[in-house]
Amino acid sequence: MKVAKFGGSSVANATQIKKVGEIINSDPERKFIIVSAPGKRDKDDFKMTDMLIKMGTAYINNENYEKFYSIVVERFKDIIDDLELSSSLMMEIEQSIKTILAQDVNPELKMDSIKAIGENNNAKIISAYLSKIGLTARYINPQDAGIIVSDEPGNAQILPDSFTKMYALRDEEGILVIPGFFGYSEEGKLVTFSRGGSDITGSIVAAGVQASLYENFTDVNSVYTVNPTIVDNPKEITVLTYKEMRELSYAGFSVFHDEALIPAIKAKIPVCIKNTNNPQAKGTLIVAEREVNEQCVSGIASDTGFCSLYVSKYLMNREVGFGRKLLNILEDEEISFEHAPSGIDDMSVIIREHQLTPEKEDIVIKRINDELHPDTVSLQRGIAVVMVVGEGLVNTIGVAQKATAAFSNANVNIDMINQGSSEVSMMFGIQAVDIDKAIRSLYKAFFE
Ligand code: ASP
Repeated sequence: MKVAKFGGSSVANATQIKKVGEIINSDPERKFIIVSAPGKRDKDDFKMTDMLIKMGTAYINNENYEKFYSIVVERFKDIIDDLELSSSLMMEIEQSIKTILAQDVNPELKMDSIKAIGENNNAKIISAYLSKIGLTARYINPQDAGIIVSDEPGNAQILPDSFTKMYALRDEEGILVIPGFFGYSEEGKLVTFSRGGSDITGSIVAAGVQASLYENFTDVNSVYTVNPTIVDNPKEITVLTYKEMRELSYAGFSVFHDEALIPAIKAKIPVCIKNTNNPQAKGTLIVAEREVNEQCVSGIASDTGFCSLYVSKYLMNREVGFGRKLLNILEDEEISFEHAPSGIDDMSVIIREHQLTPEKEDIVIKRINDELHPDTVSLQRGIAVVMVVGEGLVNTIGVAQKATAAFSNANVNIDMINQGSSEVSMMFGIQAVDIDKAIRSLYKAFFE
């Protein structure tokens, strides 16, 4: 039994939904179907969820929400008409949106119910369409499916009991279409996951029903070895481990929602990224373990938007607790850190830049000066992180040499290097302006 999740672009209009129908029809093991809200039909289009948020915000603030409401309703109507489904379904959808808007609940809960309109109704439409093409399919509400979550609007977390209940879904007859992106609290309130959270639903259901495979259908053939906007036609990755995927998506491979893989990983469910527009393509398989071949590096990821907090103090290595005190200051100011490469007398802490507003920067630097009495403390912005990722790193000699030669060939200065003992990745900190040439040079070194 497989779980197949279809992302926003895969269910954006009737043409796409027909492709989804064919995909489901072509494999009887595809029993659990998770759907997103209609996404962008082209690059200038809007996502239904964004429109719903605008509608909800206007409604809650007593502003003119009707224009957004019409756009939402029109979008569903187009899909229903083009799929030649019954107009009573459209009436049902319109009525349910009106009921949600009129509900007398606090604004946060109302907003979550509004945000879920996209997924919930798309699931109803898709199950009606699957029935129309002759499949035994039905819509199932996340509450009935057993997706019970914490009561944190916009950031729900799955509760462990959900998984046991979900296993019983295996015995249900036919195909079950489940809307992604939301669950219900123990008190029965609708609560959404964070944005992009249909991936989370897919992963939860895959773990709950102990699926043989979690297929995540999107609009790319596979995960690529580097960002295709930097290198033309980069090689595709056929197999990755969970760890490699995590390292790559950490630094800019936005294939998955960050948290999404956790339930699938814990349950050791293999995950496959597939293309709705080209389902014949093999896709990328993500598994717990893989055989490492002579290609020791799987992918090269990069991301900008980092800064480096540099602290130096003579004899730092002998000062017990220095690192803890430094990190404590960051903790007090609610700043998380990404990496902390250190030397004998200095330490750099790499932080996502958005967390360090100029005001926060002043506070942090002042506290470091007052409490740790360093020789120097400074903050450098505009740092990019490059991750060279691969399970094969641990047993291969000369990867760092090859990587540093690639940076040097591109005339790029390395500000920092970090490699943990797990050796699944090697991190390089460079100036953000150098990112494209560095990535091209690394690609050449490892993949051409
Ligand atoms: N529709 C939701 C969003 O745009 C969830 C998803 O598509 O995964 O965030």
